[in-house]
Amino acid sequence: MRNYEAAPDLLKDRVILVTGAGDGIGRAAARTFARHGATVILLGRTVSKLESVYDQIEADGSPTPAIYPMNLLGANLEDYQELAQKVNETWGRLDGLLHNAGILGTRAPIDHYDEEEWQKVMHVNLTAPFVMTKACLPLLLASDDASLVFTSSGVGRKGRAFWGAYAVSKFGTEGLMETLADELTNKENIRINAINPGATRTDMRADAYPAEDPNELLTPEEIMGTYLFLFGRESRGITGKSFDAQ
Ligand code: NDP
Repeated sequence: MRNYEAAPDLLKDRVILVTGAGDGIGRAAARTFARHGATVILLGRTVSKLESVYDQIEADGSPTPAIYPMNLLGANLEDYQELAQKVNETWGRLDGLLHNAGILGTRAPIDHYDEEEWQKVMHVNLTAPFVMTKACLPLLLASDDASLVFTSSGVGRKGRAFWGAYAVSKFGTEGLMETLADELTNKENIRINAINPGATRTDMRADAYPAEDPNELLTPEEIMGTYLFLFGRESRGITGKSFDAQ
């Protein structure tokens, strides 16, 4: 799917929420979706970064996005319900949700892994997407063609020493995706899938592999084919699958 050629108006009139939209893969996804006609809700914790993505989307001449500042670490069910309510009041619809925000946490062997750090990573990477999904599901189910995408990782399919809570949270992400997809398998208007971006040139990757030459990695913009495919109507009927973006 990396080389998927999307029609310029693939996402026209669709409203898509992207978490972690201020940087890395989320920023590229937000801008790419907007370029293909979507109204994108930019959710993230650093407002200045979201503002800069907003400005880029405006400069591209794409539909005006919206900024929704939210720190997934402290947010609770009421915050997510308020988010869904505001989306409903403003646009009356939600056609896509990309759970992209994530944190790496520390790399340490399990017997040395700090419990607090564990909770933090599990919360941002797994619990927050669960609660946000729960709050947004009624809106997604009301759409005639909704796509929900979780972000996985290679270490979410095969455990790797020292990746601790990050790896476990990504296994959980795959499990959440499969469980929800199975529950909604008879709903033709919604699909639920996951994407493993693969090694991509972002700050997170540089933190994880400081000795690596970033220029040898694909950029977030270069892996957008799978994202476009899954958010566009051509992937209708495909659900419960985990994709590799590279
Ligand atoms: P980045 O660190 O570049 O971006 C992560 C984004 O998530 C940032 O915008 C960050 O906000 C946001 N975020 C982090 N914590 C919170 C929080 N508590 N509340 C709200 N937003 C938050 O990472 P990538 O773009 O590399 O990663 C995106 C996704 O892809 C992640 O889920 C990651 O696990 C996954 N992934 C990435 C790979 C890679 O090689 N890059 C490989 C495999 C998976 P802020 O900018 O404010 O910090």
